[in-house]
Amino acid sequence: MAAHFVVECLDCGTLSTYSPRTPLCPKCGSAWRQARYDYKTLSRTFALQIRERPFYLWRYLDLLPISNSANIVTLGEGGTPLHHAPNLGLMLGLPNIFIKDERQGPTASFKDRQAALTVSALKEAGIQEAVVASTGNVAISYAAYCARAGIKLWAFLTSMVPAAKMQEVAIYGTQVIKVTGTYDHTKQVATEFAKRRGLFIDQGTRSVTPIEAMKTIGFELAEQLTQLLGPLPASATGKTPFPWRNPDWYIQAVSGGMGPLGVIKGFEELQLLGLTQKIPNIAGIQVEGCAPMVSAWKRGAETSDVVVSPVTNISTLSTGDPGRTYQILRGYFTKPPSRSLFESVSDEDAFRATHIVAKMEGISLEPAASVAFAGLFKLVRDGVMRPEDVIVVNASGHTLPIDREILGEGWETEVSLPGSTEVEMPREGLLAALNRLDFRLRKVVIVDDDLNAVRLIRRILQARGGFEISEISESTKALEFIRQQKPDLVIMDLMMPELDGFGLLELLKKDPALAEIPVVVVTAKMLVPEERRRLNGMIQKLLQKGTFLDDELVSEIKKALE
Ligand SMILES: *Cc1c(COP(=O)(O)O)cnc(C)c1O
Ligand SMILES: [Zn+2]
Repeated sequence: MAAHFVVECLDCGTLSTYSPRTPLCPKCGSAWRQARYDYKTLSRTFALQIRERPFYLWRYLDLLPISNSANIVTLGEGGTPLHHAPNLGLMLGLPNIFIKDERQGPTASFKDRQAALTVSALKEAGIQEAVVASTGNVAISYAAYCARAGIKLWAFLTSMVPAAKMQEVAIYGTQVIKVTGTYDHTKQVATEFAKRRGLFIDQGTRSVTPIEAMKTIGFELAEQLTQLLGPLPASATGKTPFPWRNPDWYIQAVSGGMGPLGVIKGFEELQLLGLTQKIPNIAGIQVEGCAPMVSAWKRGAETSDVVVSPVTNISTLSTGDPGRTYQILRGYFTKPPSRSLFESVSDEDAFRATHIVAKMEGISLEPAASVAFAGLFKLVRDGVMRPEDVIVVNASGHTLPIDREILGEGWETEVSLPGSTEVEMPREGLLAALNRLDFRLRKVVIVDDDLNAVRLIRRILQARGGFEISEISESTKALEFIRQQKPDLVIMDLMMPELDGFGLLELLKKDPALAEIPVVVVTAKMLVPEERRRLNGMIQKLLQKGTFLDDELVSEIKKALE
């Protein structure tokens, strides 16, 4: 069967056939090669061809480097949901945030795409033994797919990888080799081992299949956004509308940079096929203790820095030497009109983001994936995002169990029952135990006619517990309502019809029974100095809508209640 693709050397341009057995360019020996397809023919057929196919990775088979579909090794990878994130959107003041839920891959990370495609290519080449070096998730994915394909796998893991992840690799019958050292050391050991034994090794961004696998995220995003938002309107493009739509931003936590490299290639190919307009802006977020791309980017350097000893507990993101991948990414990032960038966040920022995304959107992430969200929060604060931007964040992976360290104190309430041996517990014992669950609730009244804002504030307070919340949307009735409720705190907006927040505040402060109730103002209004003076002394705190994170609101409210 004739292959529908070739590989092109990025260094000398030589085109050759692809086999995982021959990872180097036959002419110059370079390992940097990418797959090329017949884009001209596909531009006429592709969109139509795939229409009736199931929504998963193999939907895009015509643009994947597998010749015979009988060789596909699948566990149902790809085709992950794209969730709108309305609560995060309210919190950040950005209505178009979407979460690509890659936790829903067969082994709970986006590495499943890479493993599915690579192991299929190994099967097609008749390869029966392989080596992988990993910070955890690649090894887990490979272990699962190799088990399914009957391929023996050697997984080299840095000793920083949490025990739970190592055990997950082992359950699939993989040979686990724990290397005491950094990820970069681990890669060297694994590469040497593979060379000696003549075994295939996944070389990440230098292997053809991982990039081809990751590009399917781009394809899916374009299809999903088109379905959710419709194609780009003609006015925005100035030309004939494109049938598919791309996001304005793709945000991902970055270690070796395979994800962004693949997603960019995906959007390049969609452009070649005439399906979308441009490549989205990419935000590559690294963790501060291992951010060689970020430090190089901020200095304007063309080659990456090298972090010899990463200082982070987020071992998934511990590539200290990204090598040429940075240069290739930088090439795209600096091409006008791209607004792409690299940014870093701390471990603590990531842990905090883990809490926020779980509480606001019901999505529990591993800290590595939360790094992307912490990055989003930082970029919003720095004013990088525009309100109309369509933003996709890759929720790249999920871990169970959740580390106690991330959860922090006070996450559980114990109910201990009197040591009864009978089946039916004495009623007094049960009541006494339940009584201990009735904490003193602090009463909060929210006055706001913006129902979305009320929903957001209610959600934030509920997730924290300890508050009894009531709300009123009509400010003219608020005074009477507050008098009845006798709350411990009032949260109010300023812009309300009939009686605005300033007026309501003055009435509150005039009433001796209500004057002492602390007030927190949460508003979208940009205040002029005169207005700030008017609020002075009447309120505890002024918060701008769309600029605070959930834990900041809670801490301000706690302060106001003290
Ligand atoms: C591998 C991984 C990353 C980093 O991906 P790269 O694109 O290779 O930099 C981010 N998050 C999770 C969960 C990962 O497993
Ligand atoms: Zn070459």
